[in-house]
Amino acid sequence: MTDTETDPTMIWHKTVCVLCSNNCGVEVRLDERTITRVRGNKAHVASKGYTCEKALRIDHYQNARGRLTAPMKRLPDGSYIEVDWDTAIDEVAAGFQRVQSEYGADKIMYYGGGGQGNHLCGAYGAGTRKALGATRRSNALAQEKTGESWVEGRLFMAHTHGEFAEAEVAVFVGKNPWHSHGFDEARRVLKAIAADDSRSMIVIDPRRTETADLADFWLPVKPGGDAFLLAAIGAVLVEENLVDTEWLAQNATGSAETIAAFATVPIADFAERSGIDEDLVRKTARRLAAAESVSVVEDLGIEMAPNSTLISYLQRAVWLLVGSFGKPGGMTTHSSLAPLINYSATGNEPLDPVSGNAIISGLIACNDIADGMLSDHPERTRALLIESSNPVHSLAESEKFRQAMRAAEFSVVIDVAMTETAQEASYVLPAASQYEKVETTFFAAGFPENKATVRPPILEPLGDSLPEAEIHSRLAKALGVVTEEDLEPLRAAAEQGYEVFAEAFMGVAAANPALAGIGGVVLYETLGRTLPEGMAPAAVLWFSAQQLAMKQSDALRRAGFRGEGQALGTALFEALISNPDGVVFTKHEHGQSFDMLGTADQRVHLAIPELLDELRRLPEIPSDYTTDEFPFVLSAGERRSFTANTVVRDPAWRKKDAEGALRLHPSDAERVGVEAGARVRVTTRGGTAVAVAELNDTMMPGHISLPNGHGLAYSPAGGDPEIFGVSTNELTTTDWKDPIAGTPWHKYVPAQLEAVQS
Ligand code: SF4
Repeated sequence: MTDTETDPTMIWHKTVCVLCSNNCGVEVRLDERTITRVRGNKAHVASKGYTCEKALRIDHYQNARGRLTAPMKRLPDGSYIEVDWDTAIDEVAAGFQRVQSEYGADKIMYYGGGGQGNHLCGAYGAGTRKALGATRRSNALAQEKTGESWVEGRLFMAHTHGEFAEAEVAVFVGKNPWHSHGFDEARRVLKAIAADDSRSMIVIDPRRTETADLADFWLPVKPGGDAFLLAAIGAVLVEENLVDTEWLAQNATGSAETIAAFATVPIADFAERSGIDEDLVRKTARRLAAAESVSVVEDLGIEMAPNSTLISYLQRAVWLLVGSFGKPGGMTTHSSLAPLINYSATGNEPLDPVSGNAIISGLIACNDIADGMLSDHPERTRALLIESSNPVHSLAESEKFRQAMRAAEFSVVIDVAMTETAQEASYVLPAASQYEKVETTFFAAGFPENKATVRPPILEPLGDSLPEAEIHSRLAKALGVVTEEDLEPLRAAAEQGYEVFAEAFMGVAAANPALAGIGGVVLYETLGRTLPEGMAPAAVLWFSAQQLAMKQSDALRRAGFRGEGQALGTALFEALISNPDGVVFTKHEHGQSFDMLGTADQRVHLAIPELLDELRRLPEIPSDYTTDEFPFVLSAGERRSFTANTVVRDPAWRKKDAEGALRLHPSDAERVGVEAGARVRVTTRGGTAVAVAELNDTMMPGHISLPNGHGLAYSPAGGDPEIFGVSTNELTTTDWKDPIAGTPWHKYVPAQLEAVQS
């Protein structure tokens, strides 16, 4: 026998990288609990062996110091003591019930529900929300993606995504896929486009990013100028008769009024305000119009900057005006194993009773949460259940969210570590890490093939930590919404196979709405018990598979699944839980993009009246918000080689840029009087911080940046924690946000710089 067969440290275990939404397949070697080697999984259905540098250091996530190993209870003096699980669950249930009876269940908010590599907790958390009657919820999508989801809802009632691997022209708006990825094998795809003379890459970004370096058209837009630039590109399409009117006539409504609005755009003026030469604007528009296919993706660079919702609309209007939807290499809708966010905006969204602002995709705007809780509004949120999220660190104006948690009557955090948010909670419940339980995510947006990976645990939970499915199950029982008597018949049915179980489960769900509401927990407690060891939390996916089989039976069959009714969904479920290399779960044909539009007439509804009004008002809207007091534009939260939100707390995982330098153009450094490596103070309306200066000529003069994911409290040696780097949300404010979606303008924070004398 070879070492590989006998030595457990030589075995390769299949899992995924949890550091961005791509979730590339990897194989790892373990020595006890240490991840000693990581390599790309060549058999992985989506990533095919591809990884970036981040995956190779995931042990810094798995084995960071400060993992929680027991439930923690906050004492009146602010310190924490460990309590056993039974005590914690009973007291957590009682705490929420107290808030329910004193203020009403609708004063409980659920925040979070997953991160870059884990979404099953959200599926189980949905059950606890139902059990509590907690209708309020939010998560990080409500500070990044709700402007986009509002626009997508209005245009398509569906989510769209590009086919970048095939696109003739790929466009990146406020996005640097070299570091933020966002589609499979991003760097391979970027290099392939750059190497092909018949294809083009267009990058709209003030910084000469790694992606911009590969681009055929780099448009270094002034910060705050994206709306003007995209409006001008659309206007050139109209002025030069480059619009695909035939495609629009067949596939869209509202074309005439949209084209008329673009026709009013002062192209030369808008080009100047965006900082892009008019000639380059026109060449870009002509390249888009000449292409057989155009794929476009936006990201936080514009989603967290002025005019964000309008920009989300304008970039879509541009590719719709050239008819690049539903064709190979173009934009398309896609199937979903489970929806991450809904795209059903109508323009008549319900209003948050506290702020009066729109609740988009069911999510309260992140910037409104703390202000609401700190107000004296009678409808204010009184209790928080926060799961796999760190809003104190991640949301605008950290100190305000800290104060809001202290103002809450009751708060519970479910997480792997004593995060900045956990440090303010009444109870902290320790979750197993993403490698200690079965997990998956619902990010997949592939077309014509869509893929998912359900990965088994490769380690036992640390200490007394538990998978979230078990935590929510215990909570549901303590809240009295499910009993062993409810579960026993379904457990017996599960023992008899999927067919018997399906009938019994559907019968119970129809007869008992309370149990249906916590369907995930019911599946975990019944079907889950029949699954292979460690896979019980995947049971909730059986229901997702059934729903997908009902909606997309042909696409499942094209992907190779067989059976009728529940058997088809069960075939998908069984494939998901037994293939750590991932599964192609649907296969479509290009014309079917239109079938998945959610609009009643299955056409694109191109005109969004509110945003066409914004477009017409754009000449009067500022493109520059800097002042003499704050003359720089700070991008607060740039993605770099070693940033991953707050997933990795151990700063030692960074091979470079350990402190998270403040990048600035050399001419700005000279103006301010700082040298490379010197300390520089950045001051905004929200606060002040000191960082190391990095002179970087990829930055536009006047534009400075700090990376995301820094400023976490961490104790490298196990003593008192230290803060590493700048926590950018100590510099932001909750009132600096988009007027429609309420998403914060973190990528455009007016700031001042000064040298720090040593
Ligand atoms: S961080 Fe890199 S390796 Fe990890 S999932 Fe994203 S692209 Fe893949």
